[in-house]
Amino acid sequence: MTVALITHEACLAHDTGPWHPECSDRLRAILRALEAEEFQVLLREQAPPATIEQLSRVHPDRHLRSILDLSPAPGESIALDPDTVFSAGSREAALRAAGGAVHGVDAVMDGWAQRAFVAVRPPGHHAERERAMGFCLFANAAIAARHAQARWGLRRIAVVDFDVHHGNGTQDIFADHADLFYASSHQFPCYPGTGAASERGIAGNVVNAPLPPGANGAAFRTAWSQILLPALNRFAPELLIVSAGFDAHKSDPLAQLRLETADFAWISEQLVAVATRHCGGRLVSVLEGGYDLDALAASAAAHVRALLQN
Ligand SMILES: [Zn+2]
Repeated sequence: MTVALITHEACLAHDTGPWHPECSDRLRAILRALEAEEFQVLLREQAPPATIEQLSRVHPDRHLRSILDLSPAPGESIALDPDTVFSAGSREAALRAAGGAVHGVDAVMDGWAQRAFVAVRPPGHHAERERAMGFCLFANAAIAARHAQARWGLRRIAVVDFDVHHGNGTQDIFADHADLFYASSHQFPCYPGTGAASERGIAGNVVNAPLPPGANGAAFRTAWSQILLPALNRFAPELLIVSAGFDAHKSDPLAQLRLETADFAWISEQLVAVATRHCGGRLVSVLEGGYDLDALAASAAAHVRALLQN
C-alpha cells in the first residue's frame, strides 16, 4: 500500500506563543513517531503552498486578503480571536497546510499514492467561509474537497471528522451543497457549540453524532457503526477526506471523551474500508487537533498504521 506523508517545516513556524495547546511540538511529536522503522515506507512529500485560486473556492477574496495581508513583526502576533493567533510565520504555515491537503488530493488522483496523511498546522475544521477561529485559519479539508471537484472533476466528496470538537467550519462550507457530505462525532456540549443532531444540511448531507462528556470508545464506535458510517455509505463518495483530530483521547486536556489509541486504529480501519468500497481506495487524511503530545503521537501513528494496511 502506497501512502504519502505530506508535511512542511514551515508549519512549525506558526508561533502561537508559549502556553498555547496548538503548538509546534504537536507536529514534531507526530513526525518523530513516524520516523519508526515501520513507517519508512511512507512517501515523504513537501507540502506546496496553496494558491489563491485554491483558497478562493472556499473563502471569499475580501476575507482571504484580511488574513493574508496581516504582517506581524518577527516575534509578535495578532489575536484573531481569544484562541486564534497569527504570527510572522503563520501566513506560510497556513498556505502550506491548505496546500498540503490539496497535494494529498493530487497524490491520490494522480495515483502515485493510494492514501495520504497530511501532517500540518494550523488545523482547519473550525475555519468558516468568512471567519478564522478555534486555532484554524483556512478550511484545509474543505479546500481539498473543492479542489478535487474543480481540478479532477469529481462530484461527490465526503469529509468525515473524528476530532473531539465539531467542525463548524466544514459544516458551514458544506451544508448548502448536496454533493458535499460532512459527518462528525464530537463531544457535545463543547466548543464551538455547533453539531447538534438536528443540523442536517440542505439534503441530509450533514450528519452529526454528538457524544456526552465522559463517553468512551464503545460509545464512539456505536455512533460511527450505527449512524455515521451507514450515512457515509449511503452517500457513496468518490473521494474520502478525513479530518483527523486525536483530541478525543482520554489523556487529552481540552475535552472529556475517553477514547484509547485502539479506537483511533478502529475508526481508521473503518474509513479505509469505506474508501476501498466507494472511492477506488482514495483517502486523504488531514491533521486537526490533539493536544496531549504522547497520546497524539501514538494515536496518529495508529492512524497511519491503519492507512498502510492493504
Ligand atoms: Zn479538536
